[in-house]
Amino acid sequence: MDRLAKVFTQQDELIAPVGAYQNEYEAIKALHSLPGEKRQHFQELTLKLLDDLEQPHVTESCAERSRLWREQGNLLFRSSSKDLGSDADAERVLGACRLYTKAVLAAEDAEIELCLAFANRGMALQEYGYYQEAYDDCANALDCGYPTKLQHKVIFRQAHCAWKLKRIEQLAEHIVCLEKLELNESFRQQLEDLKRSLELLQSQSSNDKSFNDQEKTGPIHEIVTESGSRGRYMIAKEAIPQGKIIFREQATCFVPLEQRLICQQCAASLLCAPIPCPQCRQRVVYCSRECRERHKPIHRFECAAYRKDLLKMVGVSHLALRMVLSYMPSMLPKLQECPDSSEMWATITTLAKGADKENEPTPQYLQSLRMISHLDKAPQAELVYHMLCANLLQLYLKDYTNFFDQFQAMTAPIEDWHLILAALILRSAGQLLVNGHVGDALLPVDLEASEFGLLQPEMWLKPRHLKLGQMHNLSQTEPLTAINLPYLSLCNHACAPSIRTKFDGCTAVCQSAVELEAGEEIFNCYTMDYKRSMIRQRSQPLQQVYKFDCSCEKCTRTDPDQDYLKFHRYRCENPNCLQEFVPKPLPHQTNLNWWMHPPDATVASVCCPVCKETQAFSWYNDFLCLIDCCGEVKARRALYKAFDGLDKWLLEHHILKGKLAEMIIEACFAEMDEGCVLDDVDYENLMRIIGTQLEGTAAHSGGTSMEYLSQMTYLWDLWALSKCKRSDQQQQEMRGKLEYLACEQREIFENYYNDFIKQK
Ligand SMILES: [Zn+2]
Ligand SMILES: [Zn+2]
Ligand SMILES: [Zn+2]
Ligand SMILES: [Zn+2]
Repeated sequence: MDRLAKVFTQQDELIAPVGAYQNEYEAIKALHSLPGEKRQHFQELTLKLLDDLEQPHVTESCAERSRLWREQGNLLFRSSSKDLGSDADAERVLGACRLYTKAVLAAEDAEIELCLAFANRGMALQEYGYYQEAYDDCANALDCGYPTKLQHKVIFRQAHCAWKLKRIEQLAEHIVCLEKLELNESFRQQLEDLKRSLELLQSQSSNDKSFNDQEKTGPIHEIVTESGSRGRYMIAKEAIPQGKIIFREQATCFVPLEQRLICQQCAASLLCAPIPCPQCRQRVVYCSRECRERHKPIHRFECAAYRKDLLKMVGVSHLALRMVLSYMPSMLPKLQECPDSSEMWATITTLAKGADKENEPTPQYLQSLRMISHLDKAPQAELVYHMLCANLLQLYLKDYTNFFDQFQAMTAPIEDWHLILAALILRSAGQLLVNGHVGDALLPVDLEASEFGLLQPEMWLKPRHLKLGQMHNLSQTEPLTAINLPYLSLCNHACAPSIRTKFDGCTAVCQSAVELEAGEEIFNCYTMDYKRSMIRQRSQPLQQVYKFDCSCEKCTRTDPDQDYLKFHRYRCENPNCLQEFVPKPLPHQTNLNWWMHPPDATVASVCCPVCKETQAFSWYNDFLCLIDCCGEVKARRALYKAFDGLDKWLLEHHILKGKLAEMIIEACFAEMDEGCVLDDVDYENLMRIIGTQLEGTAAHSGGTSMEYLSQMTYLWDLWALSKCKRSDQQQQEMRGKLEYLACEQREIFENYYNDFIKQK
């Protein structure tokens, strides 16, 4: 990162102060028209940087590393744990899948090792029951040049998986292929078996009736376009009950955050057989061959940049680049006749200002072109930074990819296309600063960056079925994607949002968070909402990033912080006072979470406004001491008591009560994971504490929030483990929450429910 900052500083000194900002095109043009010598030096700096980022790569050492992982996999796979019971056997096979995955990733472009790693992983995946993934791995192995003499084994495996997956056509194809080969007696026999299986499948499939009754109803919201300052916004066309899906938006463009290894095409996050691009150093993976194929048009221009680790350096500009790469094919027909860059920019501006056509969905590239940007109001340094990023990426495309070849036959000279490309990247980056979204999902707790959720042997019983008591290890809410959702971006901000957005891979599903009346505006919340922040805390980002002062109903009422303060009600510790109070925040404070600061920093921050006495919070420190030794029964019992005692000082759904509940629950489950056995008294107490916590979370963040869903996993484990009482209604209510999860996670929750919770 330092390297980039250094080059940018040098470049910044070369460019004259950007005069009055007009638009992205003029800004980039100014860069491109520096006087001769300066311009040359400027470009040399960029090129040198790109050159320096190239990393040494020795195929032989990749092969060596991959081979070692594969041998470890073989050792585990062939070890005999059959006598240890089915649990241990499942661990053995999944453990081998995990090691073979490491071999697949480590091989990079060492093809011989890569194909062996794929072939072996395919074998383990098949045994575990991941047939689709095993099928793909066989194809991967054949692709990378699996030895001809042994190919029939891989094809047999594919055929077997096709049969398990009930894919008649594929199975028939593989049988035809196998019939042409010379096989020994045992394989002949297997082939005959496969043929019989195919016949059976064919006879069954003719009985299958396919249902296709997708209900299509008109939208229940509409977009209003005003020529005035309000621009475009969304209103409810009819009354919408709480929890109803208002719309879904599938994103064309997203990038993984923090270089997370999720599928680059569909954003699947729980992978069991990631398929890497062999060319870019284990940085890009896909969930399937299909996804890899579909992502090719984008990745062929990004691969070299991933290899250089360039994309993680440029922040939001990576997603901006992806927008330009994705939308260019749609834009090209409009630009190809333009004689020069200024005509092109004029065309783009006209497209961006145009109105949506009625009764016709607006294509996503146009929706994106029409997103607002505040680059014109950005401080000089910020503007220059984004300009330099755009310039860097454009030069990268020019020198390290054949992206610009497609423009050779167009009317405008190629230099003009260089300019337009950089201007479009800058424009998208500016838009994303105020329109970008972050997609999240539940992942295994503390999963390392190089690990994959479904490949953790200690968690799983069989494909997508957790072991008993493992639900709580799938409770970490992780931001996964930076994602462009131009349609959702049409919603204006209010501190009390009317929607809740669920991220399902790269699809955003927007549900009504409250009951909406016909004609009411639909709001999203761009920051923390009114219950989770004081007006002082959220007004700063709203002003700095989004350039407005919020005038929503919550911000303009006489006591704008009342809903925040409700969760911070204390009883004074002074025995002569004992009054209920809400602390007055100090002038510099933007929240009241004193327990999150280091102890010495803000000790004197909570005062009773009645008797003016500073609160000592000794009960808090006592609580922390008990937490540390909750492996002991006695300490746990004392802890449960201390938790009940909190009601004396922390009133209603005090936010700290929830925090302390979380600490007890996590500590006790950690003990359990370490092998400590809890008894019925523990279960009963924990159940009650989780109940309190969930109530508080429902009041604070909503009963469908990610916080709630994540905390719910502990309750599910207790239900599954202790078989303690719960009503059918309680159970149904919790099961109903699953619709707020992404499909991937939902399937796992549903399996867990059916395996361990459902009362027969
Ligand atoms: Zn995928
Ligand atoms: Zn690549
Ligand atoms: Zn507001
Ligand atoms: Zn007092």
